[in-house]
Amino acid sequence: MLVLREGDIVDKKTRSRMMSAIRGKNTRIELLVRRYLFKQGFRFRIHDPKLPGKPDIVLPRYKTVIQIHGCFWHAHDCSLFKMPSSNIQSWENKFEKNKANDRKSHLMLSNSGWRILTVWECALRSTNRFMNENEILTEIAKFITSEINTEMISETGMQTNINHYPQPVYPS
Ligand SMILES: [Zn+2]
Repeated sequence: MLVLREGDIVDKKTRSRMMSAIRGKNTRIELLVRRYLFKQGFRFRIHDPKLPGKPDIVLPRYKTVIQIHGCFWHAHDCSLFKMPSSNIQSWENKFEKNKANDRKSHLMLSNSGWRILTVWECALRSTNRFMNENEILTEIAKFITSEINTEMISETGMQTNINHYPQPVYPS
C-alpha cells in the first residue's frame, strides 16, 4: 500500500532547493554570479569555512571575497524587504543577529587585508534596480581586478569604501 506523508509532496530536488533558499546558500543569484565569473575565467572557492563568515565567493588570487546577501535574511533597507506581520520581536532578534554576524565578519576580513564586495539580492532582482543584469555582472568582475577596498551594490546603486554596516534601524 502506498502511504503519502507530508514530507513526500515535494521531490528531493525541490526540497533541497527550498532548504538552500532558507539557509541562504547557493541561491539562484549566487549561482548566476558564480556561473558568470567562471565563464569570465575567474577561479574561486565557495563558502570557505576557513574565513570569517564563510564568504560566498573567495578569489584568493585577488585577495577578494564576494558576499551575496539575501535582502530578507539580512533585513536590507530596500524594496524587497518586508517585515513579517507576526512574531515581530523574534524576527527582529534574528535579523539583528544576522546583521551583527555580517558586521563582525566584514571587519575581520578587512582587517586581514581582504577586499570585500557585497552584492545585495535587490541589485539583481528588484524591478527598480539601477542597472540591468549584465551591467551588474560586469561591475562585479570590474571590482575584482580594481584597487577598491570595499564596494556594495544594491538596487539603488554602488557605494565604495564606506562603512557598510552601520547600526540597523527598523521601520516601525
Ligand atoms: Zn535589498
